[in-house]
Amino acid sequence: MNQADNSSEVKKWKDKYLKLLDEQEHHSQEKSEKEQLLNKIIIRLTYSNKGFISDLDPFLDQLQQAIKSNPSLDKLKTTFEQFSDALLHLPENNQQAVQTENLISTDIVAQQIIQLFEEIDIPTELDQQADLLMQSLQTSLDTEAFKNVLDESITLLLEIKEHDLTEQEEIEDFLSNLTEQLTELSHQASGASAAHQQKAISRNKLDQSVSRQMMDLQQSSAIATNLDPLKQLIISSLESITEQITTHQQEEEGHQSETQRQLLEMSARLQVMESESKDLKYKLQLARDKALRDPLTGLPNRLAYDERLATEFTRWQRNQTSLTMIIWDIDHFKQINDNFGHKAGDKTLSIIARLLSDNCRKSDFVARFGGEEFIMLLSETSKESGLILAEKIRTIVEKSGFNAGGRAVSITISCGITQFLETDDFESFFERADQALYIAKNQGRNQCVIR
Ligand code: GH3
Ligand code: MG
Ligand code: MG
Repeated sequence: MNQADNSSEVKKWKDKYLKLLDEQEHHSQEKSEKEQLLNKIIIRLTYSNKGFISDLDPFLDQLQQAIKSNPSLDKLKTTFEQFSDALLHLPENNQQAVQTENLISTDIVAQQIIQLFEEIDIPTELDQQADLLMQSLQTSLDTEAFKNVLDESITLLLEIKEHDLTEQEEIEDFLSNLTEQLTELSHQASGASAAHQQKAISRNKLDQSVSRQMMDLQQSSAIATNLDPLKQLIISSLESITEQITTHQQEEEGHQSETQRQLLEMSARLQVMESESKDLKYKLQLARDKALRDPLTGLPNRLAYDERLATEFTRWQRNQTSLTMIIWDIDHFKQINDNFGHKAGDKTLSIIARLLSDNCRKSDFVARFGGEEFIMLLSETSKESGLILAEKIRTIVEKSGFNAGGRAVSITISCGITQFLETDDFESFFERADQALYIAKNQGRNQCVIR
């Protein structure tokens, strides 16, 4: 091999080295470890090259300093460009001055390549190839053989680098798919449980577990250098998450059907209770009606009168309109009983009850107060108007005799009328009407007296 050939060969592999370094620099951010390693190699190379070509020495110094000072990419690039430029523009005589065999100790370069192989992650499929190259590098080779091994080593290193990048991309793809899947699963889980407030706690637990595993995955993928173990980790995490979600959903379904059953049971019970309560209400109403009604005449009784008086009093307080009371008492009712029997007596009571209710307004109130006594409450009616009504009724009763056992039973009735005064209480109100009735009886019966 002549000098010129040798020098061009040197230039060729130097160029390849530079290309490798360029690439390395390009990905330096993700690959800081490898960058450091390469920096070390560059420094060593610059050391071993120093003194061979004096024109290059200042650039080699610069390069060393630049790399040692942990430079920015731009600065490193500039320095490299200056170095490459100098290398390309070496004067012919200097190239001539380059030593032939001892240009660079092949040994040192071989050791550096071996170290590089040892320190980087080599994919399994390239392992054997790397081993063979390392073995070759360890044997003493002539320049031609060394050049070939060096060529192959650089090609392999570039391939490893390429593989590394592909693997990185694969991991990224895989992780982005995984994230989508997990997001979908997490949405499903929260969507399924959103309707069930009660299960908020278990949902929370699930969410926490999922996000914890997601964090674990993120951390693991950040430090992962090989896809296979990461894949295993991700697959097992996915399985665990899926299992948790399935369990959670099953629990929810179980919960749901149990809730459904309870609801149905409750609704059935409610229906029974509802109809029982309706029954009860009806019975209560009947009992109340019964309690407030006189069975013989069907009129409200004294208890009902008490209630009604209280209501009318409240109305009177509110509106201050007149409230009139009429107390009726059948004349000589004892004689009717005695002469015609109790049946005729009862019939008389019924007739009077009907006549009283038929001849007053709906808003008026009629009750059987005692034996043969009736009471009327006329709201928004003066005692004078009450007297007119009472006279009308008295006349009608007078004409309403009936036959009992073939004999004519004549009925007359008397009443006392009064109007509620501001100074009245219930008792004084009643007393005054009763006094009027007493007067009517005393004055000969079948008459209406106002007070
Ligand atoms: P007066 O004109 O003074 O009112 O004479 P009276 O006989 O109607 O008066 P009194 O109050 O002395 O008599 C009431 C009688 O009414 C007593 C009782 O025999 C009769 N009586 C009371 N309640 C009933 C009842 O529910 N049915 C029947 N058949 N008679 C009754
Ligand atoms: Mg009486
Ligand atoms: Mg009487």
